[in-house]
Amino acid sequence: MSRPDGTKLFAINAGTAALADFGVFSDIGYFDGMAHEVRVPSYLIMHPKGNMIWEAGNGTDQDFGFMQLKANPIAPQLEKIDLTPKDINFLAFSHLHIDHIGEASTFKDSTWIMNTIEWNTMKDDLGEKALVADYVNANKIEIQGDHDVFGDGTVQILFTPGHTQGHQSLLLRLENAGNVILCGDAFHQRETRTARLVPSFNTSRADTLASMDRLEGIVKYQNARLVIQHDKRDFAELPKFPAYLD
Ligand SMILES: [Zn+2]
Repeated sequence: MSRPDGTKLFAINAGTAALADFGVFSDIGYFDGMAHEVRVPSYLIMHPKGNMIWEAGNGTDQDFGFMQLKANPIAPQLEKIDLTPKDINFLAFSHLHIDHIGEASTFKDSTWIMNTIEWNTMKDDLGEKALVADYVNANKIEIQGDHDVFGDGTVQILFTPGHTQGHQSLLLRLENAGNVILCGDAFHQRETRTARLVPSFNTSRADTLASMDRLEGIVKYQNARLVIQHDKRDFAELPKFPAYLD
């Protein structure tokens, strides 16, 4: 099927998160004592029926001691392609951790697509609740599982719990680039995937592994490209904004 005005995926550098000890990202000791800095991305999906932001970055620089967040705000970058936050129809997150919701309030007038399990079980360890407080009064679509955003299969939210109870990934069906999965924090690094590493702070080890299996199945049987959002190498292999996949 030809889609001349088909869906576009833009990867936006929304900052970094640096940890002096990345050990908590594996409960079998794989990363113990290793310092590591990850990419914090946001993604713009342009579809003929509307624009969506997936992940809202860090928002501001913050030092939590164990982790330093550096922000690279999203909205000024959107200006490069003549978009303002008002042009963003939908806002969705893989989950409600601080490095995914920092600029959520920038898009408070968008329709928030929220997994209610995630909303109801979110923690507030690093001040997350204040960052998504606008959800209460926002236009919203509440989901509890998979969700086809535009109704044509091109942009699908997949329920992939384990990192958090309502964690989700995004499956895009692009005309030229093919099927692309943005995996949220189902995998944190390429090593997470090859060694099937489960962070010690995930809400369910079993659900994490089951969600990994689901994503690997889509990779295998639907020939999908899996993008590990926090991996700088995977981010660097995507077109540099404002270039895009389509
Ligand atoms: Zn994250």
